[in-house]
Formats: sequence, structure tokens, C-alpha cells
Amino acid sequence: MAAISIPKPGTKYGPCEDIKCIHSDCQRTREMINNKCEICRYKIGYDTRFYMSLSDRGREIYKHAMCAEMLIEGSTLPMVRLSAKKEFKNE
Ligand SMILES: [Zn+2]
Ligand SMILES: [Zn+2]
Repeated sequence: MAAISIPKPGTKYGPCEDIKCIHSDCQRTREMINNKCEICRYKIGYDTRFYMSLSDRGREIYKHAMCAEMLIEGSTLPMVRLSAKKEFKNE
């Protein structure tokens, strides 16, 4: 499963800056980045690697690549892990 990343609006491969544009590609792109990550519940957003998969019922499931990778490493919650890392740095 390859991670996808959507460039910011107005860049070469990103959607139009005008959010009211009529291109179906741009609209699809905006929909995708507005989905929430299954793991951290934050928006997917631009310029962030993420995975998109389909559930058994055909629902699209979005996950930040970073969140998914942290889960694989054995952490329970990405945010918990991030703050733990910060504390470690301060020592
Ligand atoms: Zn457009
Ligand atoms: Zn996430």
C-alpha cells in the first residue's frame, strides 16, 4: 500500500486555489484532504503522506502515514508518543 500526498492548492500538481472552481479533479482532491484520519481524528490536509483504503462496506478509510507507522511501532496513541518523545529530548 503506497502512501499518497496531495500538494497544496496553486502548486503544479495541487488543486486550484479557487475553492469554487468547477474541475472534478480539484473537488475530489479537496474532499480527500478534508477527511479525518482514523487514528488521530485530525484532517488529512495537504502535503502530508496518507493512506486510503476501503472498508468491507466500501467506505473510504483515511490514515496519516505517520500515524499508521507509529501504530505499527507499537504505540497506543500517536499524540501520547509525540509528547513522550519531547520529554525525552529535554533530559
Ligand atoms: Zn480546479
Ligand atoms: Zn493521523
